[in-house]
Amino acid sequence: MTSPTDCYAVFGKPINHSKSPRIHQLFAGQTGQSIAYGAQEVSAEQFKNSAKAFFANGGKGLNCTVPLKELAWSFADRRTERAKLSKAVNTLALQTDGAVLGDNTDGCGLIRDLITNHAISLTGTRILILGAGGASRGIIAPILEQSPGALCIVNRTAEKAVNLASEFGSMGPITGCGFESLKSLQFDLIINATSASLSDQLPPLTEDLLALNGICYDLAYANKPTTFVQWGMDNRALKSLDGLGMLVEQAAEAFFIWRGIRPKTQAVIDLLNSERCL
Ligand code: NDP
Repeated sequence: MTSPTDCYAVFGKPINHSKSPRIHQLFAGQTGQSIAYGAQEVSAEQFKNSAKAFFANGGKGLNCTVPLKELAWSFADRRTERAKLSKAVNTLALQTDGAVLGDNTDGCGLIRDLITNHAISLTGTRILILGAGGASRGIIAPILEQSPGALCIVNRTAEKAVNLASEFGSMGPITGCGFESLKSLQFDLIINATSASLSDQLPPLTEDLLALNGICYDLAYANKPTTFVQWGMDNRALKSLDGLGMLVEQAAEAFFIWRGIRPKTQAVIDLLNSERCL
């Protein structure tokens, strides 16, 4: 007897180059789960109707990426605490009572990649996040939970960084500012949560921003080093990493939410790394 195949998908625009279908099929093969996982180009205007149709046709879960995470937050009938904090949802899961749960697995994906995969401790360190968009919002609370010494959010539009910092102010030592305020400051870990790397651009960073033996982490990922990963290497970072590991880890958390089984991630990360044409 064949087991029924549950359907999942990633919605976003653009979606052509999404690695999510491949990652979830690898997870399914590894855990013996029978699932189908597709990718569908869905614009912000189409999202509500497309998501309704997906679940009405028996779909069990969705991943939502740019530009749909805030819309997915609104679409969810219920939200996890971490989704409420980030005000963005990247994972929708049909519940047994028919409600759709919204979660955000980006932050825990980043933390798992940093701490578990790369043995980077955040406790007591000085951390700088570049950017104050959706991704930044999703990683702030999980970072503050690691008790850093200081967390600074810097953004091209300074006001957004200041507002974000005050929103999370009760959770830990967080400040927000514009790039001009970074003069003479140094950080142990710099996380690029801007979308600058996607267009081969670099935020305005001064040479001495990274402390000795500091670490750079770009949420963006590409087959070759991103502009920010390259900046880290040029500025003697101890490690300069991109967001491929985070991508796999946030997917693993979504898979766990849907299937109740936690896939092993390292083999999948290794495989995707080996497929980069460096
Ligand atoms: P948003 O569009 O919400 O935010 C973009 C941010 O980047 C804003 O703060 C914007 O500043 C800033 N920015 C854009 N261009 C520049 C530039 N040239 N110089 C300086 N700042 C710039 O995007 P997201 O937050 O959703 O995504 C950010 C990045 O994170 C993307 O690269 C995305 O691919 C990646 N990501 C990776 C994940 C993973 O699993 N690895 C998961 C989620 C996101 P301003 O406010 O001034 O416009």
